[in-house]
Amino acid sequence: MNLLDVMERFPDQKSCIEFLERVRWGDTPQCTHCGSPKVNTRHEKDQNLIGRYNCQDCKASFKVTCNTIFHGTKMPLQKWFVAISLMMNAKKSLSSCQLARDLELNQKTAWSMMQKIRAEMATKGNTLLKGIIEADETYIGGKPRKRNKKEDREPIKRGRGTSKTSIIGAVERGGHVVAKVADDLTGQSIMKFIKSVASIHESELMTDEFRGYMTIGREMKHHIINHQEQYVDGDIHTNTIEGFWSLLKRAWYGTHHHYSVIYTPLYVAEACYKYNYRNRDDIFDKFLRDSMQLE
Ligand SMILES: [Zn+2]
Repeated sequence: MNLLDVMERFPDQKSCIEFLERVRWGDTPQCTHCGSPKVNTRHEKDQNLIGRYNCQDCKASFKVTCNTIFHGTKMPLQKWFVAISLMMNAKKSLSSCQLARDLELNQKTAWSMMQKIRAEMATKGNTLLKGIIEADETYIGGKPRKRNKKEDREPIKRGRGTSKTSIIGAVERGGHVVAKVADDLTGQSIMKFIKSVASIHESELMTDEFRGYMTIGREMKHHIINHQEQYVDGDIHTNTIEGFWSLLKRAWYGTHHHYSVIYTPLYVAEACYKYNYRNRDDIFDKFLRDSMQLE
């Protein structure tokens, strides 16, 4: 869905509400407080009340947006829908300044909408990986910490051993990726991560020679490509996860380098979500359907 499709399909608040209601309730609106289907007809006329129902059982009022990312928003839903479509379509990543200009919002509002959309992406689309799985770690964001005197005599470290944020990731070849900010990269932590994202008895793990992978390597089939020697050995390589890292880094350094590292998990979630649904034409609809799936 490009921008024009969104505007045409959702020309006003009413069409957005009707779409969300269909996704959430089908034909029967239900009270979001008590679950009762006995509700008065939807307010249509007053712009402030549009989309609101009154429950005949518990007497509370509610809207289709209750308890979703759109909960309590003052923003027209059309602007949300456009924001979602622009974020999904952006090859790298969209900056909040750009979105603010496109939607005539202030930057803070645009930024907070985008963070809510990212937080939604973070909770969706996690499937258990299996088959051939490549695992790797990378580092983004933040300034390197100040070096002490002893370290000053040593060469500047890159990658493992720096003070940037570490990200650990695993990708199923031909399938989904899962990545998250890692507190540390010990064998135990890496094992816990792999076990939480992959079905280890149905999988073979491909990694480089980093010793952090040896712990999990004792519990599942594990192939190592020694990057000191070569990058590909037949089927043994980590090119898929490295491809994902380069997407993530392009998004991060191209757009978000000035934000604090505490938000890194949300940017990682956005990159994963977009990677995982990159071949789906209906990623926009999928996102909205997911966002109405509250259980
Ligand atoms: Zn009720």
